[in-house]
Amino acid sequence: MLLNSLTLHTPRTVSEAARLFKELQEVKILAGGTFLLNSLKLLKHKGNKTAKNVLSLGHVQELKGITCDDKSLTIKAMTTITDLFESPLLTDNFQIIRTVCRNISTTPIRNMATFGGNLTCRYTWTEMPVTMIALNATMYFMTPDGTTTSMSAEDFFKNNARSENLFTHAVIPLEPQCHLAYRRVRKMSEVDQPLLTVCIKTVPQSKRWSQTRAVVNSGTAFAQRDYQLEEFLNGKTSTPTLGQEATNHLTSAIYDTRSSEYKQHMFRVCLRAAIEEICKSN
Ligand SMILES: Cc1cc2nc3c(=O)[nH]c(=O)nc-3n(C[C@H](O)[C@H](O)[C@H](O)COP(=O)(O)OP(=O)(O)OC[C@H]3O[C@@H](n4cnc5c(N)ncnc54)[C@H](O)[C@@H]3O)c2cc1C
Repeated sequence: MLLNSLTLHTPRTVSEAARLFKELQEVKILAGGTFLLNSLKLLKHKGNKTAKNVLSLGHVQELKGITCDDKSLTIKAMTTITDLFESPLLTDNFQIIRTVCRNISTTPIRNMATFGGNLTCRYTWTEMPVTMIALNATMYFMTPDGTTTSMSAEDFFKNNARSENLFTHAVIPLEPQCHLAYRRVRKMSEVDQPLLTVCIKTVPQSKRWSQTRAVVNSGTAFAQRDYQLEEFLNGKTSTPTLGQEATNHLTSAIYDTRSSEYKQHMFRVCLRAAIEEICKSN
């Protein structure tokens, strides 16, 4: 199906892209296009209005790449999931990102889909948000006048993943001493899409769990932390029964609202397995 007629804008710099994003009316950002192009076709098919302007970020070289120093890893918005997966910079606590990338859909999708698109598309089920909250990432945006603003990934998703500005990159602190575990359950066999995801991070101190982050994505709400579970885990030592005990200390509204019995069960299975994995590595 052909798209409705539109004007394609192809800025070369981040500041030009940020300015156009504000100035243009009825505009949509094109990153990898894996969601946007489908959505424009679907809207047309349903007889709905579609965006008059499409702002492609494909030519903005400043938005591509991954760098690191002795304190943090920086991932730019237009880095593809494949480039991220293949990056040799994913060491220490950043390795969990490779696990997440490996699970995302198929090779053609991973070759096109971008890190920024995954975080900012406002589909509640994508998997980078859980990981970025667990890793305590900060997200950076450029305003139309070229100023940079930032927000923790946790606050971005608490704020319903809304931003008026162009997302440029995320910075993740290096925490070599932390332990991480990730679990996902797929929704259906035909199209790979997660039903739920969980990511647990802890920084052991004197063999006790501390600074724990238990981040979950139910797919029906944006990724969020389970503070009650974190409070239970902090101060505990790793034992073979900790995962099982932890499932009695969940914020049930996160897991049980708009969830089938299967999903509620799988949430508990995944959380238990993730906690047990960390206990074994401790
Ligand atoms: C069949 C299929 C299966 C998938 N399976 C999975 C999966 O299992 N797990 C998973 O995590 N994801 C999955 N995805 C999602 C995929 O990984 C991409 O993240 C997602 O499609 C959007 O990325 P994109 O770069 O193509 O964004 P686009 O489609 O180009 O953009 C979507 C929207 O994101 C916003 N946006 C993008 N970049 C920026 C920016 N820099 N600043 C501000 N806003 C921006 C805009 O609103 C834009 O319109 C799947 C996608 C498809 C199509």
